[in-house]
Amino acid sequence: MRLLPAPHVFQAGRNSRLNTKCISEVIVQRLAPPKQFPLESFARVLAFIPHPDDEAMGCGGLLRRLVDAGREVELVLVSDGSGGPNHPTNLKAERLPEFARSLHFLGLDTYDAWLLPDGCLEQESELSERINKRIEDSAPDLIVAPWPGDLHPDHAAIGHAVDSSSAGRKSSVAWFEIWSPLPASHVLDITDLMDIKLQALKAHETALRFGNYLEAMMGLSAYRGINLPYRGTPNYAEAYLLRGPNHSG
Ligand SMILES: [Zn+2]
Repeated sequence: MRLLPAPHVFQAGRNSRLNTKCISEVIVQRLAPPKQFPLESFARVLAFIPHPDDEAMGCGGLLRRLVDAGREVELVLVSDGSGGPNHPTNLKAERLPEFARSLHFLGLDTYDAWLLPDGCLEQESELSERINKRIEDSAPDLIVAPWPGDLHPDHAAIGHAVDSSSAGRKSSVAWFEIWSPLPASHVLDITDLMDIKLQALKAHETALRFGNYLEAMMGLSAYRGINLPYRGTPNYAEAYLLRGPNHSG
């Protein structure tokens, strides 16, 4: 999967310079309707989270469902959440406690903090090796990770490393979406968990100073909810691209 470029802002009347590729180069095939996420298939889960807030935005509903179902869930926070090398203040001291508070809402109280430099994971020579070793040691039957097509370089770097490390293993991979919607193979109904997912994201007071993430997350969850049977009230869902020995999508 290629890293997606950040989208340009559309400007009416100024589109003559746009690169007008043939649409068939972009859309390879029609997507099949997403299936229900097969929670019951997995007992040991290992999740890689790029930054504090990605766990709530991306896969908070899935993590909480797995915990509630008594599954073993291990979590790795890959970066230090400092805001990147160009950020005027190092945000690590605020964001790590916020991450712990968010996990509380998701039913988790422990995680491994690798504290690799935020914004620089693409250049981290040890990233692939550490991910590979962690997968080897934990031997999960499900790996949860951001999908490699995400436009954030840190998210994509983890996605690509997980993609390489999981090849040929028995583990399935559930790719989640954060900054770029993915071609979903499965959806997870989180309608009854939406308040909890919101509480988890609200724990990230620092991140919420930099973007309207609450409404963005609710909008994406509502959009994914249209893949669930309509019950007359809003549905919310998380979308995943599930790949593995028993899941071809
Ligand atoms: Zn992130």
